[in-house]
Amino acid sequence: MGKIKVEDLLKSFISKYDFKAGVLPVKRLAGLKNDFKECLQKGFIDNKVYKSYLNGFSFKVPDDLKEAKSIIILGMARPQHRLNIDLGNRTIDAIIPPTYIDYRKIYRDVFKLLKKWFAADRYRLSRALLPLKLTAARSGLAEYGKNNIAYIGQWGSFHQLAGFYTDWKTIRDPWQEMKILDACKSCKLCTRICPTGAILEDRFNIDASRCLTFLNESKDDIPEWVKPGSHNSLVGCRRCQLVCPYNKKVKDWIVDIGKLSQEDIALLEESSKGKKKDPKLVNKLKSMGLYEWLDGVPILRNLRLLADK
Ligand code: SF4
Ligand code: SF4
Repeated sequence: MGKIKVEDLLKSFISKYDFKAGVLPVKRLAGLKNDFKECLQKGFIDNKVYKSYLNGFSFKVPDDLKEAKSIIILGMARPQHRLNIDLGNRTIDAIIPPTYIDYRKIYRDVFKLLKKWFAADRYRLSRALLPLKLTAARSGLAEYGKNNIAYIGQWGSFHQLAGFYTDWKTIRDPWQEMKILDACKSCKLCTRICPTGAILEDRFNIDASRCLTFLNESKDDIPEWVKPGSHNSLVGCRRCQLVCPYNKKVKDWIVDIGKLSQEDIALLEESSKGKKKDPKLVNKLKSMGLYEWLDGVPILRNLRLLADK
């Protein structure tokens, strides 16, 4: 197969499935590793955040694809989701920011799809355990906002990234300086609205240890200095995304995923105490795309914070 034909293969894949893609030759792994190391050395990454999220990265080609020649980074548009919850005396609409629902399932599905597509031309694929925002920014797929979130064109920050290695050799090397959104030079909207002071004036790496997303994804107690009115989502936080002018066109994109009844909440309470999960509840959460975080995200604690604010 000629090289141009392979470039076309990816192009036709992303146009068929409405993805956007960046591609880097595998030699750029060293650059990605350096970028990441530099962030660590400058102290931009909090130790607890590193241990919770970032120490699983690998900047080596994977064992199951030693012949990897390129890194493909895909972006796909993702909405916010709304879950209606019956609390007995009232119901609340709990919003879940983009990417939480079915995150792993979507990654798996995209992997299978792309793998099949490439296999038709005898190319192989393996998952990339790379810092995806960084890879997207270095490939030109995404730009950084001052809130340290990656933005992709008209989707703004409403997207999910997925990274893969392939033994297909790209003929291009778009490695570039990481771009910052133009408006960030003079805009202070996200800095002002951030409820925890996590967005800093002098750098584009936020203080993730203060970010509500890190705090409410964790099972640890929410620190007392977090003001009760800060909570705005069932998990994570949307304040800096909703206020950002680059999200103007997508900020109202919300998809309903269904309702949790009082009985469902009672069953969640039971399972949080270590009791066997009710199969009906499991199926319901699966159908809503919430099952992945049943054991991880403290849904009930976050629900109480949201309801009490
Ligand atoms: S709100 Fe303003 S400063 Fe923050 S990311 Fe968006 S454009 Fe940049
Ligand atoms: S997600 Fe919320 S807490 Fe985190 S930086 Fe943005 S506004 Fe601040």
